[in-house]
Amino acid sequence: MLAPPPLLVQHQAPPPAIVAPAPAAQRTARAVKRTRGLPLAGKVVGVNPGHNGRNWSDPTYIDHQIWNGREWENCDTTGTETDGGYTEALFNWQVGSDLAADLRGEGAQVVLARHNNDGVGPCVNTRAQILNQAHVDVAVAIHADGGPADGRGFTVLEPVADGINNRVIKPSDRFAAVLRDDFRADTGMPVSTYDGVDGLQPRDDLAGENLTKVPSVLIECGNMRNATDAAILVTASFQKRAARAIAAAITAFLTRKG
Ligand SMILES: [Zn+2]
Repeated sequence: MLAPPPLLVQHQAPPPAIVAPAPAAQRTARAVKRTRGLPLAGKVVGVNPGHNGRNWSDPTYIDHQIWNGREWENCDTTGTETDGGYTEALFNWQVGSDLAADLRGEGAQVVLARHNNDGVGPCVNTRAQILNQAHVDVAVAIHADGGPADGRGFTVLEPVADGINNRVIKPSDRFAAVLRDDFRADTGMPVSTYDGVDGLQPRDDLAGENLTKVPSVLIECGNMRNATDAAILVTASFQKRAARAIAAAITAFLTRKG
């Protein structure tokens, strides 16, 4: 059973703006008209670019303990980086921004879990709250891994039932398989040689997956600690391809009939 978490620390940073204020009926009507006929019209998609560009600057905040649905863990981490110093936070932000643009082009409303790469946080549990409260139709967290130097490839991390997320396990699994297939086909990145089975790995230690009430997965788009993957991950062309592959998977998942 999950005990409700005690409130342990005060947040040092102001809480992030959760979502744009609810649009007036008129604005909604205009938006519906503008996106009518587009495949994701009327859909809301959560995009969670992992970490943040200045998490390193506030270790006290980043290390404070949050409840992830099963256990206590740090609010966030700095993320990994390549040997050349290209940070995961920046990679996640670039892919997330490209993805948001692609999804809006398809008619979706996008809810971002952070709004720039110059800040600290929000904590991983807050990100889950942001996406839950926005009632997104599906959410994806964008990451790149800090795996073993001799291991290559991408992995899609899926939630494991814990009570809170029980109702979204099945659709999350379905989305994970679609995302794995599209990402492999469209980016050329191989599935991981060191994590998961055929590119899929259930995880019960991630706040974003433990606390989610919407279909949700996390993708490690490649291994920043592997020289081959790193050389690919830092390019804008791969980042755009990755975003398009994720957008295609989201569109396939949300528009599947039956
Ligand atoms: Zn990460």
